[in-house]
Amino acid sequence: MRKVKVTGSGQEFVIGKILCIGRNYVDHIKELGNEMPERPVIFTKPATSVIGEGEEIVIPSYSSDCHHEAELALLVGTRGKDIPASGALNHLAGYGVAIDLTLRDVQADLKKKGLPWDIAKGFDTACPLSDFVPASSVANPQDVRITLSVNGEPRQDGSTALMMHRIPELIAYLSGIFTLEPGDLILTGTPAGVGPIKSGDKVSAAIEGVGKLSVTVR
Ligand code: ZN
Repeated sequence: MRKVKVTGSGQEFVIGKILCIGRNYVDHIKELGNEMPERPVIFTKPATSVIGEGEEIVIPSYSSDCHHEAELALLVGTRGKDIPASGALNHLAGYGVAIDLTLRDVQADLKKKGLPWDIAKGFDTACPLSDFVPASSVANPQDVRITLSVNGEPRQDGSTALMMHRIPELIAYLSGIFTLEPGDLILTGTPAGVGPIKSGDKVSAAIEGVGKLSVTVR
């Protein structure tokens, strides 16, 4: 079973469920031509989709359009159900950098047919993830810069200040549906600038005050 580390704290967590938020940044909703959701759009990835720093993305053969989405990842440290937004941040053990890989062609086809997207989002290597920093070390997770480059060329440059559904609200909403447990991860959505990656690319994401993550495409 895959674990995540919280640097400097000696803490390690076996990865539980990975809850992901779709369409949480207005500029990204516009670039995909999606409708603005009233409530957060939720999907999941299995723990087996995680890879770490320096590992390889393997794009499945059933896709020819794999997109990067750089996102702030939250690591749950304390169990909770129906968590009020006011105390929500106390349930986090750390913050990290994630890349939510998405097979855009497969996802578009499944959406059109009204079918679930799991194979577009949950395949092996679909969730590159950095180590985490302790939650206490990030003064304001709602105001950090997220960037992603491919082969050194800038693609995404946004701020968590641009989230529509903010972090405490996301935790409150998710915990009303899913009991949150230590080791669960929440991917908070992507800012604009998503685009395709291909074999041989080096993909690097960074979040100010949180960390960096570099992976390559096989
Ligand atoms: Zn995403």
